[in-house]
This record gives sequence, structure tokens and C-alpha cells, in this order.
Amino acid sequence: MSKSRPLSPPAAASDTPAVSRPGAEAAAPCTTSTELIHHPYVPPAGFQALVPAVHKASTVVFPNVAALRARNWKDKTGYTYGLHGTPTTFTLEERIATLEGGRQTLLAPSGLAAILLTFAALLKQGDEVLIPDNAYGPAKELARHELAGWGIAHRFYDPMQPAEALAGLISERTRLLWLEAPGSVTMEFPDLQGLVRAGRARGVLTGLDNTWGAGLAFNPFVLGTRDEPLGVDLSVQALTKYPSGGADLLMGSVTTRDEDLHLKLKFTHMRLGLGVGANDVEAVLRSLPSVALRYAAQDRAAREVAAFLQQRPEVVQLLHPAFAGSPGHEHWARHCAAAAGLFSVVFDARYAPEQVDAFVDALRLFKIGYSWGGAVSLAVPYEVPSMRKTGWPHAGGLVRFSIGLERPEDLIADLGQALARLQG
Ligand SMILES: *Cc1c(COP(=O)(O)O)cnc(C)c1O
Repeated sequence: MSKSRPLSPPAAASDTPAVSRPGAEAAAPCTTSTELIHHPYVPPAGFQALVPAVHKASTVVFPNVAALRARNWKDKTGYTYGLHGTPTTFTLEERIATLEGGRQTLLAPSGLAAILLTFAALLKQGDEVLIPDNAYGPAKELARHELAGWGIAHRFYDPMQPAEALAGLISERTRLLWLEAPGSVTMEFPDLQGLVRAGRARGVLTGLDNTWGAGLAFNPFVLGTRDEPLGVDLSVQALTKYPSGGADLLMGSVTTRDEDLHLKLKFTHMRLGLGVGANDVEAVLRSLPSVALRYAAQDRAAREVAAFLQQRPEVVQLLHPAFAGSPGHEHWARHCAAAAGLFSVVFDARYAPEQVDAFVDALRLFKIGYSWGGAVSLAVPYEVPSMRKTGWPHAGGLVRFSIGLERPEDLIADLGQALARLQG
């Protein structure tokens, strides 16, 4: 830290009053705001705690004009302005880069803002982006509305078609192949290796929404083999989910391995003004040491709960990539060592949508709400046919479950009592 240089020494208590107040002859001397702001006390250097400090800043001060002019905001050698980074945000960026198996990370105010940053940085008028039809819904809406308005085309592709078929969709205009593994609600796990290979063969950048994998299920930058190194160009995460783990904040990240690609994203990040709050960054830093433990526990619990639902007569299809018979299970098995605590089930079509809703309403431990990765289990019914263009083979209702940190047997009992209502 640069040393503090007060404009003048603070007035001692016996000095003339700092503020003269007519009519208050014998008033006690008052300290001025200047003295409070430019106070000479500087705490001793060398404070060491186990957790990173919360540095909050818009303004960052320079020792002189030459230093202000010389400072390069594009790397982590110094500080220029809160938007360009503080010790707190740099620390989280470095840790997320490590978690993701990448080299550089940028933080954004939400997972969706991180997706916007990627699209805005890499696409321009006349370009096209290919987006999986089972992608996170708001990312598709972003393409339909803002991207379309900016003259950027998109195509929603079937992520489960053979990767060679995807190659046929890539045109001269295609700049970005967007990926998500598995799909947000329907949980199909695509042939990531084949898709990345198809994009790479045509010189198209590949970007993955890695919120589900969280950097823990697989390394998105190492999808190939020793003979054929393959990996995505960038990985986006909603830190809102597992890294936060608290259902109490929104944040996103974009991680890369290539310095030029990172800088391209960083310029757009700066121009869009995508700053994050220091207290939220601190909350993620506090949760991060336990992310692997939580992920593993939620994976284990989710598989227990999913296995219970799979054998229930009301359920015709379990959608959890770690289970045989779930779409893309073989791709999950090839790429992944773990799974998120997230899955969906499709109910028998003999249950009307209102009955499925009533089942969700009857749940007590499971709360009704979006998002996942937190301590409280959640359930949401989805109307899948209205969400996609490519085919959907099921007629019954779908419910997605996010498994929290409750005891799995308690969650199973809750599901059991709610399923009993379906019979009535
Ligand atoms: C939640 C989520 C996002 C968006 O994250 P927010 O922080 O809520 O904006 C993006 N992708 C996936 C797969 C998500 O689950």
C-alpha cells in the first residue's frame, strides 16, 4: 500500500477550534471532516489472516500523475479502478481459473451476464452462433432478442445428433459454437469431444456453459487424448450455483487458456462495465474451499434420491446423466468423474399437468424455486415442449430436482408422502 499523506497534521484538542461558529463562544473544538478523511494513522503493515481481505473500491489512488499515466489496467501487476480489479477480485479470478483448469478468469455480475459478455465479445453483426436447443433458457432468449437485434444470427441445434451432423450446420458466418453439458432441464449429456472436434475443424471458437460441471466433474480444457489434445476455448460458470453454495448471490465467470482471447473478453468486460461487488466476491471466496466436498455430497445424495424415484411406478424416465438409460450417459461416463446434485424425472402421461403441480405443491422439505447448488433442496415443474424446437419424446410432465444438503432419507420420505397424493 502507498503511504497516506495528510494535507496537514490534525489539530490537537487544545488548538483553536477548527470550525468557528458565531454565537457559540465557549463551544468545544470540533474535528473537521478533512481531518477525519486525511487522518495520519496508518495501521501497521504485515497483517496476516487466513482469509483474503474485502477490498472495496471504485477509486484507486496513484502516488503521482506519472504513475496514473503509466498504469496498465489490462493485467494484474497493479490497480487502476474498481471495475478493473481489486486484490479481492483478482484472488477469486485466480482461484476460479484454477478450479476450471484454465489460466485467466473474468468475473461478471451473474452467470447470464458472463454469457452476455462472451457473446458480445466474440460476435459482431453478420456472425452466427450455434446454441444447443436444450441450453439454459435465458441464453436462448438473449440470442432471440438482443443478438438478433444486433444483426447476429443464431441456430438452435440438437446437441444429441451425431457430431458429424453438427459439422453440416457450420457456415462461413459461424463464429461460436456454444455448448452446455448436460442440458439445463432435460439433462442430456452431449458428445462434447465430438462437438469440440467439429468446431475446431472449421476454425470455430467453442464456449461451454460449465455451471453443472463446476470445474469438478470434468476439465473442459482437456477433453481429448494425448494424441489429440482437445478442449473448449472458454468456459463460463454461474458462480451463483455451487461456488457460492448459499443461494444468496449472483455471479458469473469466463475462463480461458489463451491470453489473446482473454484480452478480447477483458476489453468488452471493461466497456460493458460488468463490475462485481466485493462482499459477494468475499462470500464466494469463503464458500470455495468447501465446493468439492459439497459437490461430492450433493452428487451422492442426488443419486440416492434419483434411484428412489426411478423405481417408482409414477415415473417413466429418470434424466440424470450418471444413470444408464439417461440420454448421453455414455458421454458422461467418458468425460466425467462426478455429477452435480441435479436431475429431472418425467411422470407417466396418465398424470395431468395439474396433478404433477399438486405433487410439487405437496412437498415440504423441497422448496419451489429456481437455481441450484445451495443447501436447500428445490423442485420446479417444467413445460418442456414449449422450451425447444427439436423433438421431445415424452408426453408426461417433467419435474427438476436440485438436491441440497439435507439427509437423503428425509428427502426420500418427503417425496414418498407427496407421491402418495398422486394416487388420489
Ligand atoms: C443459473 C444458470 C445460469 C445463469 O446464472 P445466473 O447467475 O442465475 O445468471 C447459466 N447457465 C446455467 C446452466 C445455469 O444453471
